[in-house]
Amino acid sequence: MGRPDRGQLAARLTQLTALHLRRRREVIEAHPQPGDATRVVVGGRVLRNFCGNDYLGLSAHPALVDAAVACLARFGVGAGASHLVTGHSHEHHALEEELAAFTGRERALLFSSGYLANVGVISALAGRHDLIAADRLCHASLLDGALLSGARLRRYAHASADAAALALDERGGEAAALLVTDGVFSMDGDLAPAAQLAQLAAQRSVTLVLDDAHGLGVVGARGRGTLELARLDATAVPVLIGTLGKAFGTFGAFVAGEADLIEHLLQQVRTYIYTTALPPAIAAATRTALRLADGDSWRRERLQSLVRRWRAAAGSLGIPLAPSETPIQPLIVGQAARALTLSRELMAAGFWVAAIRPPTVPAGSARLRITFSAAHTEADVDALAEALARAWRAVETGGDA
Ligand SMILES: *Cc1c(COP(=O)(O)O)cnc(C)c1O
Repeated sequence: MGRPDRGQLAARLTQLTALHLRRRREVIEAHPQPGDATRVVVGGRVLRNFCGNDYLGLSAHPALVDAAVACLARFGVGAGASHLVTGHSHEHHALEEELAAFTGRERALLFSSGYLANVGVISALAGRHDLIAADRLCHASLLDGALLSGARLRRYAHASADAAALALDERGGEAAALLVTDGVFSMDGDLAPAAQLAQLAAQRSVTLVLDDAHGLGVVGARGRGTLELARLDATAVPVLIGTLGKAFGTFGAFVAGEADLIEHLLQQVRTYIYTTALPPAIAAATRTALRLADGDSWRRERLQSLVRRWRAAAGSLGIPLAPSETPIQPLIVGQAARALTLSRELMAAGFWVAAIRPPTVPAGSARLRITFSAAHTEADVDALAEALARAWRAVETGGDA
């Protein structure tokens, strides 16, 4: 792509609109009730939000707000520098230790976002003479890290350990190999076959990298994520990546592993070295979030019970269900126009469920990505099921797609 002139840019935007692929942003004007992020004001109307990643209902929790405010008074707003210069505060340091303890690993290293963590870690662990096998539906940031590394990238069929083995069979003269996967897949809500992938990685002496952005805090009785469900320890998955902007309700990310690995990453990863550290107040709020995510197992239980309630209600109303037991419950509708229609109908009825379209998901698999939070009520879930059933019947019979 050269430097497009204005006419070309306008033509591209027109084409995106015609394909129903043009994205737009809604502006959140307020939370009508402080402390509750499940309701937001958009266009002057209160909407119930069913498409965020605030799974445990912590993003607006008063204890997190208090921790952030107390830290602002001591450390100011910005970190002022990168971690390796003068940006690494006591709050960052303590959070790293607590994340290591939470994940049962020797050390953890904070990043300023999950995107930065994935791009930097993958491209630091593999190079031009290596092979990376990655699940076809891995998060974009993992794939971008693989591309940046210059390694040969093989994308294998989603959630198939057999396909992963075939991809690794293609290792020829490559010096090293990485096996890369999400734990809980962000747009489908299903789980990676972590135990099989760990076994495969051990047999082939490849490094398994697991991004559990949507699993940590949510999945497993203790919220330790995909690895807790699969009963895998730190040796099976030496590189664990987590994000802080989802279940933990704040912002940022981390990589956890053995002390030597983390020290290596601290010295090498460009997206760690050449960027400003998170605001210390975000680290302080995250420490509180981690304590709540650890101690309040009722949040996970409540979330699971809302997911079960949703699946029962949606099933009985004829809404197709995806094979997911997690709070990510997609309704896959195929065409982008159809997903948009459903999303608009729901918004008119007071529910915010974004339409997810290509290239975020593969062509022909546009969907509503419905997500639940421990802060939703049973009545919220029932009301969404009824509104969606009405909208679904209308598009089915109307054939407006
Ligand atoms: C959200 C997400 C990321 C990116 O994390 P950010 O902190 O939002 O940049 C990485 N991996 C997965 C699987 C995600 O869902």
